[in-house]
Amino acid sequence: MAVKLLSIILPVLNEAGNVDALIARVTAVLGQLPESWEIVFVDDGSSDDTLARLRAHNAREPRIKAISFSRNFGKELAIAAGLTYVRGDAAIIMDADLQHPPEVALKFVEKWREGYDIVYGDRVDRHTDGPFRKLYAQAFYRLFNFLSRSDIPSGAGDFRLLDRKAIDAMNRFKENSRFNKGLYSWIGFKSVGVPYQVADRAGGYTKWSFRKLIRFALDGLTSFSTLPLRVWSLLGLTISLMAIAYATVILVRTLAFGADTPGFPSIIISVMLLAGVQLISLGVIGEYLGRVYEEVKARPLFLVAEEIGASQPQHKPSAPSSGKVTEAAGARS
Ligand code: UDP
Ligand code: MG
Repeated sequence: MAVKLLSIILPVLNEAGNVDALIARVTAVLGQLPESWEIVFVDDGSSDDTLARLRAHNAREPRIKAISFSRNFGKELAIAAGLTYVRGDAAIIMDADLQHPPEVALKFVEKWREGYDIVYGDRVDRHTDGPFRKLYAQAFYRLFNFLSRSDIPSGAGDFRLLDRKAIDAMNRFKENSRFNKGLYSWIGFKSVGVPYQVADRAGGYTKWSFRKLIRFALDGLTSFSTLPLRVWSLLGLTISLMAIAYATVILVRTLAFGADTPGFPSIIISVMLLAGVQLISLGVIGEYLGRVYEEVKARPLFLVAEEIGASQPQHKPSAPSSGKVTEAAGARS
């Protein structure tokens, strides 16, 4: 049987301080495997000398490749890009700050050989996250799993191995507001988790600002559930029924005891409450509508400024720009 090719996808944003140590550790791990390998960095618009380092590494070791975005497009799209560039029979996605211990990938590969199409790292605790981030993540996954009726394990993230079948499936999504974690579970395939301990960030700082986290959460919720859109009709119905009931009470009371004028506070309260509810519902519609608009424009997911030793494979069954299926059998082996 032909030697299989393993691809490693590493999204990087200003990780110059981590690149050398990362490559050393990842290649040490890959050296223990019989598979041949390639490493594909996706430089997500770094402003430090991450890219210069990647160039130097590619000059020394052509199996280390990189593509560089024209600007920062975000980690979700960096992963999406990586998935279109890799040639492997399987790809492993990792963070570049060594929080995902490369050694765990050995277990991923083991499971892959056993026949699993997706092997995800299941972090056993979130001690590296601050208390706020931990709460935020927990609340998000509860809400997400409830709203989308899916079941993303709260410890599963982007650290995972995807078989070629899953890679090709992921490459068929053209979503701009992309939520990979939801997509991994949406595509299905035979999956298994491997528990691992998240390490501390090797150097540098987290690239996820509070704003990015909020946006990420909203992207996730809106792309996997329409419940927030639909819940308003239920709420509207409930409020209307309550209003009718209250109107009946007032009518009966007026008939029995005559009209009295008080009622100013209740009017103000109901006006303000209902105005609030209406604005919230409009806002929710806005969140969806904005995303619908983004998707309808069908802008490219990302723009590549430079390819360093990497190019998109031609045989890919679902090249992002064309709907045509051009499959060259065996081109991969
Ligand atoms: N990253 C990226 N683009 C971004 C933000 C992050 O490519 O806009 C990369 C980053 O360089 C790292 C990985 O995504 O390799 C995870 O980011 P980070 O470690 O900052 O996130 P955290 O571990 O705090 O969730
Ligand atoms: Mg990190």
